[in-house]
Amino acid sequence: MSPEEANKYQRLIKNRPHVVILGAGATMAAIPDGDNNGKKSSVMNGFIEALGMTEILKGIKLKTSSNNLEDIYSELHGRPECDAIRGELDRKIREYFSGLEIPSQPNIYDLLLLALRKKDLVATFNWDPLLLQAYQRACKLTKDLPDMAFLHGNVLVGYCRNHKWGGILTASCRECGEPFHPAPLLYPVAHKDYAADPYIKDSWNAVRNKLKRAYLVTVFGYSAPKTDSEAIALMKEAWGAVEERTLEDFEFIDIRDEEALIESWQEFVHSHHYQVHRDFFSSSLAQHPRRTTVELFDRTMECMFTEALRKFVPGMSWDEVNVLTRKLINEEEELPADAFLVTPPA
Ligand SMILES: [Zn+2]
Repeated sequence: MSPEEANKYQRLIKNRPHVVILGAGATMAAIPDGDNNGKKSSVMNGFIEALGMTEILKGIKLKTSSNNLEDIYSELHGRPECDAIRGELDRKIREYFSGLEIPSQPNIYDLLLLALRKKDLVATFNWDPLLLQAYQRACKLTKDLPDMAFLHGNVLVGYCRNHKWGGILTASCRECGEPFHPAPLLYPVAHKDYAADPYIKDSWNAVRNKLKRAYLVTVFGYSAPKTDSEAIALMKEAWGAVEERTLEDFEFIDIRDEEALIESWQEFVHSHHYQVHRDFFSSSLAQHPRRTTVELFDRTMECMFTEALRKFVPGMSWDEVNVLTRKLINEEEELPADAFLVTPPA
C-alpha cells in the first residue's frame, strides 16, 4: 500500500459508523433516581400496576398469571375481543411515558449523543422521550450529532403520512405544514410487523444500512428478549458473518453477567473482539467522546497506546460539558478534507 492509499484507508475506516443500540436498561441507567420529577422509568414487571391497569384487566380473565407486560400483551394480541382493552393499554402507556422528563443536569443521554457524530447512529427500542429530549438540548451545542432510529416507535416521535418528514411530535411537516401524527408503538409480541408502518420501516432501514458499514457497535442495556427474535435476525442479517467482521469491535454496557450477555449476542461477536462495561462512563463513548472509531483504529491498527485524556465523567456541569465538546468540535472543523483525526498521544 502506498502512503496515499494507507491514508485513504485510515480516513475511510475512521469515518465508518459507530452504531449504538439502546434498551430499557439504558433509560434505567439514565435516571436511576427517577426523572426530573422523581418519576421512575418502567420495568416490564410491575408495570401494569404502575399504569393503573390492574382493575381493567381483572374483567377479562387472562390465562397468564404473569404480571409482565410482554406476557400480558402477547395474550391480548391473540384475542380479538380484547381490542378495546389493548387500545386502553396503549393510551395509558403513552400517557405514562409522555410524562417522563429528563433531569436538568447533564444526563448520560446528553453525553451519549454528544459523544457521537453525524456518521453514527443511535437506535433505540425504548418508548420513553428522554433521548429526544436530550437531542433537543444537544442541538444547541452542535448540529453534528448522530442519526436516531426508533425501532419500536416512541411517544415523542411524529411523522407526516404523506411526506417523508418525521421528528418531534409537536412539530409540523415541512412540506404540507400539517401537524405530525404520532408514530405507532410496537408492542412486545412474538411477531412484530416491522414493515407495516412507514416510519418504523424507515427506522429499520437506517439501522440496517449503518450496521452493514459499522466499525464499532455498542449495545447498552438491551437484553435481546425472545419476543425480539425478529429484531435480532434483522440486525444479524445486516451484520453478516462473524468471520468477516474481524476488524470491528463490539461493546456492551450492561449490569448482567458476561456469560448471559455473550449468549444473547454470540452470533455478532468475533472470538474476543468485545468489551463489557458495567456503566456508561467506562465505555468508549464516555472515554473517547466523538473519537470512538478514531481511537479504535489508532489502538488496534496503529498499535498506539491510547489514554482517555478528554473524557466525560460523572457529575460534570453543563459548562464542563460545553468546554470539552467545543474543543473536540473545533478540532473536527479545522481538519482538512483529506486528513483524518488522530488520538492525541498520552
Ligand atoms: Zn406532509
